[in-house]
Amino acid sequence: MPQASPIPFPVVLFDLDHTLFDFEGSKRIAFANVLEAEGIVHNQSHLDAFEKVERPLWQALESGELTLETLNDRRFNGLVETTGLDADPARMAASYLEWLGKSGGLLPGARQLLDTLVEKCALALVSNGYGQVQRSRMTNFDLGHYFSAVTISSEIGAAKPHPSFFDHTFAQLGYPSKEQVLVVGDSLSSDIAGAINYDLAACWFNPQGLEHPDKPGIDFVVSELSEIAEIVLGP
Ligand SMILES: [Mg+2]
Repeated sequence: MPQASPIPFPVVLFDLDHTLFDFEGSKRIAFANVLEAEGIVHNQSHLDAFEKVERPLWQALESGELTLETLNDRRFNGLVETTGLDADPARMAASYLEWLGKSGGLLPGARQLLDTLVEKCALALVSNGYGQVQRSRMTNFDLGHYFSAVTISSEIGAAKPHPSFFDHTFAQLGYPSKEQVLVVGDSLSSDIAGAINYDLAACWFNPQGLEHPDKPGIDFVVSELSEIAEIVLGP
């Protein structure tokens, strides 16, 4: 008779940005380089303006009103419109994606966690990011060998939290039983909502200690990546 698996979650789906990867650091470096290439002496107010422009665009993306291609163009058009910068938004948009792919690095504890889990689990990368950026990061930061499946919204035309996004991941993983799968991510609206929509266990990575929403379906909340190994592998 086959023995029951001693591992609570033999399959783990990881978000990348803000979960394994230091997206904020990557963004700051990329944004600074893009503005410098346009000959702009930049400061924090430029990044603040950029973030103000892009925030509602990301929300529109999650609700399916916008594509990533449109989002990238729109955020640089919006930056130029709101700040009056003398710069080419299309050129900045293209350059920004290139810089994002090679700037920044993993968050503290991320590589150690992946090294631990990859020995015993099947890992998947599930990202609402740009294929060009995330594939570059996988190469530049030596991440590809960890993942049996990679699902990136821009490559499949579906985004978290939509169930069709996870259909792609499950197909790549050979359709594991749902009760064996844990989703780890920082976003309640994409990662956690996606897990709940798809009947998967959800681990909310909440390093900033944001208020815990009274929401059924969040099975675990962690503030450090090092806490995740015990959840996945058991005590
Ligand atoms: Mg994220």
